[in-house]
Amino acid sequence: MDSWWQLGEGSGYQGLELATYKITCPFCMESGNFKSAYHAEKKNPKSNKKLNFETLECGNCKGYVQVLWSATEGSYGYGSGLHDYRVQPWPLNYEKHPEHWPTDVGRYWPQAKRNVVDENWDAAAVMARSALQLALRGNKASGKSLKQEIEDLAAKGVLPPIMKEWSDQVRELGNDSAHPTPSQSATTPGDAGDIIRFLDFLLEYLYSLPHQIKQYRERSAKKDK
Ligand SMILES: [Zn+2]
Repeated sequence: MDSWWQLGEGSGYQGLELATYKITCPFCMESGNFKSAYHAEKKNPKSNKKLNFETLECGNCKGYVQVLWSATEGSYGYGSGLHDYRVQPWPLNYEKHPEHWPTDVGRYWPQAKRNVVDENWDAAAVMARSALQLALRGNKASGKSLKQEIEDLAAKGVLPPIMKEWSDQVRELGNDSAHPTPSQSATTPGDAGDIIRFLDFLLEYLYSLPHQIKQYRERSAKKDK
């Protein structure tokens, strides 16, 4: 996004009204229990595009969040279209995965993240490996270890060469035993951080990037009609 006026253009959520049910209170973690405490608008002088500045009050804990949101220009009144928003503050824990990720991968990912927050490094690495394995196999990777599966997908062009090169440096990827051996040393914070960063980029590349491109292309195709 190069300008705030592009918010809600090309990607976002269904509908032209703010999907408050998707917003989670960052203080009490309750979702969708909000009422509007303040609302102001700014209209683009050159178009019908409108930016909404909204303060929402949580019905549970009476905390406030500020939301900037906007609906797709020109789709007012047609009952279809998108809107997008940015909210602050946001929850600092990891509650859910992005909707377009597979649910099995998405189940392990926040557990990996939460274990980092709680400094459970072994558990974080195990969860990250499980998420990686599901994502790699979901993309039809073959191989006897995570490293081999990453190499396989890179060879097939599903993953870029730079991910394969990076995987050589991520120690936890080589340490492929989900079943610990007695002599195995503990996962260090650095090693846990490395494999989770690798996981984040892999999921971004395999799921988020194609999803964003698809949304953009659908939007462009509609404009061309
Ligand atoms: Zn709350």
